[in-house]
Amino acid sequence: MEDCLFCKIVVGSVPSEKVFENDYVLAFKDINPVAPVHVLIIPKIHIQDTNEISDKNVLYISEIYKSVEEIASICGVKEKGYRLVCNCGNDGGQMVHHLHFHLLGGKKLRDKVV
Ligand code: AMP
Ligand code: ZN
Repeated sequence: MEDCLFCKIVVGSVPSEKVFENDYVLAFKDINPVAPVHVLIIPKIHIQDTNEISDKNVLYISEIYKSVEEIASICGVKEKGYRLVCNCGNDGGQMVHHLHFHLLGGKKLRDKVV
């Protein structure tokens, strides 16, 4: 996807502060953090949102979930806890249309998501 910001981050044509990477997953610091730890975890192929998850690409999703523990550990929040957030579509507040999970932590987060 030529016009996708996060695809550009994957190939390195847009810089990012990388936290973790393997063959399937890239994690990098959010440019506008809303918590002391705010990392975005993305698949290294273009998947628009959760509506696009299918048998074809589900390996990338399982790899994302499998990497969460290590990313949380790298960020120093594994023991104290954190929140994973995934916005989908307009009502969900998704601004970048490349599937991503926000890993948030480093402070006591509000009890309610909404
Ligand atoms: P969402 O609203 O769920 O689509 O979240 C998109 C997130 O991407 C926001 O938290 C932005 O701050 C973040 N973001 C946008 N551009 C960049 C960038 N170049 N590098 C890192 N994070 C970014
Ligand atoms: Zn993309």
